[in-house]
Amino acid sequence: MTVHSAKDTAGPTALVAGGAGFLGSHLCEALVRKGWRVIALDNLQTGSASNLARLAREPRFSFIEHDVCDPLPSDVMADRVFNLACAASPPRYQADPIHTMMTSVNGTRHLLDVAARSGGVFVQASTSEVYGDPEQHPQREDYWGNVNTTGPRACYDEGKRAAEALCFDYLRLGRADVRVARIFNTYGPRMQPDDGRIVSNLICQALSGQPLTIYGTGEQTRSFCYVSDMVEGLWRLSDVADNPGGPVNLGNPGEFTINALAAMVTAMTRAGSTVVHQPLPVDDPRRRRPDIGRAEALLGWTPKVQLAKGLPPTIAWFDKLLAPANPAPAALPPKRPRAGRLPALAVAPAAKA
Ligand code: UDP
Repeated sequence: MTVHSAKDTAGPTALVAGGAGFLGSHLCEALVRKGWRVIALDNLQTGSASNLARLAREPRFSFIEHDVCDPLPSDVMADRVFNLACAASPPRYQADPIHTMMTSVNGTRHLLDVAARSGGVFVQASTSEVYGDPEQHPQREDYWGNVNTTGPRACYDEGKRAAEALCFDYLRLGRADVRVARIFNTYGPRMQPDDGRIVSNLICQALSGQPLTIYGTGEQTRSFCYVSDMVEGLWRLSDVADNPGGPVNLGNPGEFTINALAAMVTAMTRAGSTVVHQPLPVDDPRRRRPDIGRAEALLGWTPKVQLAKGLPPTIAWFDKLLAPANPAPAALPPKRPRAGRLPALAVAPAAKA
C-alpha cells in the first residue's frame, strides 16, 4: 500500500474509494472545495493519478493506493465514506469478472466497516444495472429488476446487488448510517478514451474520423447525467439529515436512443463520420430511464445540465486529449499500474499496513 499524507488533518474527513476515477476525482475536488479533508483510495485499475493532478498540492487531500478487496488499515477513519470503487464500463468490468464481483462484495464490506467503526455516513455507488434489462419504465426504486444471474454482466450487476444487500443489512443492524445511490449513465470530462462506453467511444471516433460503432439497431435508450449533477446528488445524499431508508435513483431522466446520441455527437463535432453496426452485446438493456421522484423529494435534487449542454465540454475534453500537439499520456493508464503515482505529494514515512 502506498500512502500519500495530507498535511492538514483538521476538519471533517471523507474517504472516497475509487477517488482516482472519473466520478471519484470530481467528487474529491467538490469535497475539498467544501472544506473537507479528503482521503482518496484507489488501486488505479481504471482510475488515473492524472485525474487527481489538481489536488496534488492541496493540504487537505491525501491518496492511498489500495485495492478495496483487501482489508483497510484499522486506523483509517472517516466521517463520510463514499464507495465508488469498481470498474464501471462493461468492457472494463468484464475484463476481470471475478475481481469485479469481489470488489463489490468484499470491497463494500471493508468500507462499511470503516464507516461502522468511525460512526460515519456511508454512501454506496450502486447502479441502474441492478434493474438489468428492465420490464418497468421508467425505473423506480421499488422495482426489483430483471437481471441474468449467469450472463457476462452478472459480475457487475449481481455484485452491485449483493453490495446493496450488505448495505441494508448494516443499516438494519444499526452498524452504520448507510445510503445507497443507484447511479444512471454519467458522462463528462475525465472519461477515458479507451473506456469503451457509448459517450467516450462516439466522441473519440467522431474526432478521429473513424466510423461510429453502434451496437444493434441503435434504438436502445439510455439517460445521460452530467458529472457535476451526479456529484451534487451524491453530496446531498450524504448530507441529508434523515436516512432515506432505501435506495435513491440519481440520473437525468432525459432519455435518448443511441442513434440520437450519435447524431448529436456528429453534429457537434462536425464530423463526417459514417456509422458501422456491430452486434448487440449479450444482455444489453433495451431501455433505461430513472424515475427521480425520490431524489427530488428527499434531497431537493434535480439535474441541471441537459445533454445538449453537457456534450460540448465533454467533446472539448476529448479534443484536447486526442490532439497530437497536446499528448496526455497519463489519460491512458496501464491496466496494472504500480505504486507511487502522485510524486507531488509527500509519501508518509511509515505506510499503514
Ligand atoms: N454502445 C454502442 N456503441 C459503442 C458502445 C456502446 O452502441 O461503441 C451501446 C451499448 O450496447 C449500450 C449503450 O450504447 O446499448 C450504452 O453502453 P455503455 O457501454 O455506455 O453503458 P451501459 O449503459 O450499457 O452500461
